[in-house]
Amino acid sequence: MPCLPFPGDWAGKGEAGWKRKQRAFDPDRVRVSEGMSGREGGDISRMKPITAMTGQEIDRIKGVLFDIDDTFTLAGRLIPEAFSSLWKLHDRGLILVPITGRPAGWCDHIARMWPVDAVVGENGAFYYCYCTRERRLLRRYVSEPEAAREKRACLEEIRQEVLKRVPGAGVAADQHFRLFDLAIDFSEDVPALCPADIREICEVFKKHGATCKVSSIHVNGWFGGYDKLSTTKLFLRERLDLEWEDARQSFLFIGDSPNDEPMFEAFPLSVGVANLSRFAPTMKSVPMFITAGQGGLGFAEMAHLIADDGARKTNHREGRHP
Ligand SMILES: [Mg+2]
Repeated sequence: MPCLPFPGDWAGKGEAGWKRKQRAFDPDRVRVSEGMSGREGGDISRMKPITAMTGQEIDRIKGVLFDIDDTFTLAGRLIPEAFSSLWKLHDRGLILVPITGRPAGWCDHIARMWPVDAVVGENGAFYYCYCTRERRLLRRYVSEPEAAREKRACLEEIRQEVLKRVPGAGVAADQHFRLFDLAIDFSEDVPALCPADIREICEVFKKHGATCKVSSIHVNGWFGGYDKLSTTKLFLRERLDLEWEDARQSFLFIGDSPNDEPMFEAFPLSVGVANLSRFAPTMKSVPMFITAGQGGLGFAEMAHLIADDGARKTNHREGRHP
């Protein structure tokens, strides 16, 4: 079974280093591995270049929901192109919400310090909003952390079984900062595992009755029926007072991985960064648009397209910032 051509060693700094990263994410190389999946792939031909997004479509965007790993980041780094473009969207008054599998500890930092309105974390276990005026972090959990503590023993059993059955898998380095799930690392701090190994990890979670999702770096598993989409809906209704049909038409989502599939399916203005191509053949739902750039460079491409649109006149955040 061939391994995915994940980037291995990002040694090298400066422009030459970034160019090497870009080459390693070359989707044409990734397509060589399409035969790895036994499933029917998503309809890749449905994806249009993001430059095909019409002025009318751009004009109805009130906010951007975005995945973080390998969507906002590039090769594990938060690059200046992406972060400065996030500020640009913020300054245009768009509502900005990362929708991530990253842990509660990270999300506390993100909600407080990034130019965002909220963050959905641990694949939908909660959302956090920082209320600037009150200097207070609002934490909205789908289920209480106490309930998750009762499931810790089950997740510990899963952890032990995964590490025994899948040599090379590791517990994610950010596990200490998690409240609800178990994250198994298959390519962040460990040498990249093959698709068969990733499937094996998922099988262990499922055998124990846990929900599991695959991102570009981790398999995350938890007990509960929530996902990125369900908690995004909760946030849009509770904090922005938006009906679902209005919300799905007026927010753009951008992501890169199978755990973003519910979001791609729900939002008509859905965008994949170029490295989505490595997962697209195994996905049932693919986005409407695709960027030319990989990871954070693709995010910046999307952000500039929206922020530079001359038709935008409305400050959508006005009166809505939590
Ligand atoms: Mg991702």
